Amino acid sequence: MIECIACLYKDNHPLGILFNEEGLCSGCSLHQEKDILNWDERKESLLNMVKDYRNQSSYDCIVPVTGGQDSYFIVHYVVNELGLRPLLVNFNRVFNTREGIENLQRLRTVFGLDLQQATMNPVVVKRIIQTTLANLGTINWFWIAGQTSLPVRISRDLGVPLIIWGAHQGVEQVGMYSHLDDVEMTRRYRKEHDLMGVDEKEIFRFDCAFNEADISQLQYPSDLDLLNSNTKGIYLSNYVRWDPYQQHEFVVKRYGYQGRKFARSYYQFDNPDCPVYMTIQDELKQMKFGYGKVTDQLTREIRHGRIDREKAKSLNNSYLEKTDSDSILKFLEWLGASRRSYELLELNTSKDFAEKFREFYISDSKKYEDDEQSQDKDYDVFGKGVFID
Ligand SMILES: [Zn+2]
Repeated sequence: MIECIACLYKDNHPLGILFNEEGLCSGCSLHQEKDILNWDERKESLLNMVKDYRNQSSYDCIVPVTGGQDSYFIVHYVVNELGLRPLLVNFNRVFNTREGIENLQRLRTVFGLDLQQATMNPVVVKRIIQTTLANLGTINWFWIAGQTSLPVRISRDLGVPLIIWGAHQGVEQVGMYSHLDDVEMTRRYRKEHDLMGVDEKEIFRFDCAFNEADISQLQYPSDLDLLNSNTKGIYLSNYVRWDPYQQHEFVVKRYGYQGRKFARSYYQFDNPDCPVYMTIQDELKQMKFGYGKVTDQLTREIRHGRIDREKAKSLNNSYLEKTDSDSILKFLEWLGASRRSYELLELNTSKDFAEKFREFYISDSKKYEDDEQSQDKDYDVFGKGVFID
């Protein structure tokens, strides 16, 4: 496996990563643009672009937000630097922390803005998670599908064409495009990278216990709809020198944004709103790819010159050994799975994860169901609707 000479990423990064002859990864190469580009000019080009959207409807633009990540900085920038009046849009992940809920409440109050929020039926959410965990080895498919489609539907329905997102992960993490490409939101990137190749139309290829009406909250508008509504999604990270650590320091001081310490997180401020994303989802990521959210955080710190690679590497190793059993057990209990299922999952990381997961949890659970002599409830986890309420 090739490892970058500068950061902590390897060639199995799920977004795809390239290496030059010296062994520097495409993410680190692209990061160098941040010190070369004229960011004042970039801001000018953004101001020039957004002026056509001002005062065209009730809102100038849509800003998708959560109770964490970069939401405060994005809203601050859109309101105070671009002078726009956004509609905030939030897709409820269902799993929330007190800090995340308070951050979201505070966000609309301190900026004095409207917020539209969608919350899916939790029974369907549970079924979707059972399906994606068994077939894709992931928990967060449903909320990524939701948070990438809700703002686009609202754009179409309210006639607010401009959507302003924060960072483009393909640019930030692996240098997929130059900042100067002004890359925009696309259905294709959403499906291939955000949703691991399976969008809401294709989720039915798995043996799942829900129908199209159940997942209407995840529907991405048709190309014709988007053409008619002129919907355009841009990424602020192409126009602003993106540095989440500095941005978080700023919003904590200025707006009272709250963090939360998770055992596996180097930063307190990245995702304080979701107890699942930073615990079991992060361990699943490590099982599949050998790294976690902390690796993303420390790689950013190396690139911004705030930590050296050796120190980051040793911190990374020690964070990746940590676990948050309480949160994981709570989640498994909610899902209707046992601790044993999780331990079995940990034992099976040597082969390709998705393949092994399917083999173990689908085939074996079917086999056990078929064989009345060897009923073992522990093997039924995530099987054919065994735990559906
Ligand atoms: Zn690198």
